[in-house]
Amino acid sequence: LTRQIGTQMKKPQTNATTANTAMTEATSTNTPAEVQQQVANAERGQVDHSAEQATTVETANDPEQLRLLVKDINEQLQRLEPEAEQLQQQYHTWMNLVPNIVSPDTPDGQSDADNVVLKQCGAVPDFTFPIRDHVELGEMHSLFDTTRGVKVSGSRQYYLTGVGVLLHRAVQQLAFDLLLDKGYTPLEVPMMVRSAALQNTGFFPLGIDQTFKIEGEDHWLTGTSEVALVSYYQNEIVDLSEGAIKLAAASQSFRSEVGSAGKDVRGLYRVHQFAKVEQVIVCEADPEHSEQIHQEITNNAEQLLQLLELPYQVVAVCIGDMSQKTYKQYDIETWMPGRQAYGETHSSSNLHDFQARRANIRYRTGDGELRYCHTLNNTAVASPRILIPLLENHQQEDGSIYIPVALRPYLNGLEQIE
Ligand code: AMP
Repeated sequence: LTRQIGTQMKKPQTNATTANTAMTEATSTNTPAEVQQQVANAERGQVDHSAEQATTVETANDPEQLRLLVKDINEQLQRLEPEAEQLQQQYHTWMNLVPNIVSPDTPDGQSDADNVVLKQCGAVPDFTFPIRDHVELGEMHSLFDTTRGVKVSGSRQYYLTGVGVLLHRAVQQLAFDLLLDKGYTPLEVPMMVRSAALQNTGFFPLGIDQTFKIEGEDHWLTGTSEVALVSYYQNEIVDLSEGAIKLAAASQSFRSEVGSAGKDVRGLYRVHQFAKVEQVIVCEADPEHSEQIHQEITNNAEQLLQLLELPYQVVAVCIGDMSQKTYKQYDIETWMPGRQAYGETHSSSNLHDFQARRANIRYRTGDGELRYCHTLNNTAVASPRILIPLLENHQQEDGSIYIPVALRPYLNGLEQIE
């Protein structure tokens, strides 16, 4: 439209000048939308004004003709602008649903039943006595109290008590120290974020029903510190000249668990609030490099399980069991004797540049080019779920529980729970 008008007028006063005046005149109490409207009005007014003074017009000498043209343009704008805005919104809505590209080695499949076991480590215990599950062991040693949890907070809530609390804190500190030893930077993060952070990290729009909202505010309780850790760099150009950024956080995680009614209702497996030590990596957009880091963060979690002397397996997660944002995912499942099955305790993902594009996180390559980073994450430990295999695998015939050697320094040297 500017070009159309421009070709018809010899010396049009620039719209920018008029717009600037409008901006100056707008008071500080104007909302951004009001200021925008004033600027738009000023621009239209300028065209009208120029039309009245059309003595300078070269190609269209007739001011009436010019006025009609401007009127027509204004009418078109009035009609097209809302339409364009609506289309823009629709475009964003659709684009927000587009999933990430999936790695070529991701197994095909519909659900976790199609995940592929890559390896198993540690021997599954062969008990020679009738075993107790974690709920019975918890009651026996007063480690947690789900009855009072439900009384106070409703379903899937619990109190940890006594040595249960100490164990919960010990596994987290062990995991945290493991990451610190590997050069991770620790962060204490907000667990209440704006919706934009959840949007940027790929949890919204599809995971919105899994997320607790603070009523009346644009604040949401995060289900993982990954949201705050990745968003730490949103709209920034990060410095990767000295290698990948490695972040660690210990935080509470809140999940509505919508859709899992009646599932895993016994004990501590699936709860609304739990603690998680998380590893998040921001690195260069080099697929080989981020693949190598993916193996590294998976190994870190495996190392933790080895320190806890627990048997586990690593599975390649299939397409149908991966979330929208994931390029490639491994789950680590730890043996849970009470279930006579492996249960998921860790989830390790490479997202390539999916989050970085949304959150606008870039870095400068050696050639000075700006590129979107790759981001990755993995659980280091999630508790109380990890207490399930810890208690169940290490139980002894008399009901006492063996404490793995690596955990003892965090429990004042405690060797077993009696
Ligand atoms: P995710 O961030 O969904 O990959 O989960 C990471 C880990 O957190 C899982 O592997 C579990 O160990 C733990 N976790 C996830 N959801 C829950 C829940 N509702 N209750 C207890 N632990 C959970």
